[in-house]
Amino acid sequence: MPYYPDFSLYDYDYYSPPEGMTIGWLMKGHDFPQGDVEIEDLENLADLGHLLEEQSRGWHYCTFCGKPELQYAWSERFDSKYALGSAEIRVRSDDGTLYVAPNLITHYVLDHGYRPPAEFLRAVREDVRRRWPQGA
Ligand SMILES: [Zn+2]
Repeated sequence: MPYYPDFSLYDYDYYSPPEGMTIGWLMKGHDFPQGDVEIEDLENLADLGHLLEEQSRGWHYCTFCGKPELQYAWSERFDSKYALGSAEIRVRSDDGTLYVAPNLITHYVLDHGYRPPAEFLRAVREDVRRRWPQGA
């Protein structure tokens, strides 16, 4: 998995032009912002990660954990536990900005104290509200 500072242009897919901004592509050796994340935001990330968008063939492992092992997340919405590290989370803010994060972001927040940028978390809430309107 490549390392990107937050708010880089996403160019992982060689064949298509950059289309979004990177969030949460963390790697050992690079500092990242830390802080508390509200439970609603964490649950949103776990639900969006469950969609397994842009699934890759292999698995990416967290470089902060000592050994390469799969990490898992629990999605309340889908009532399901799933493995992280082979898919992305893609969210669009109400103003149309696309953000691309590895679904490992849920693990980074939960186990390594990563605090994603506020504007990304706002876009996540906007995307979730559009995707799953209240009561749906
Ligand atoms: Zn880890």
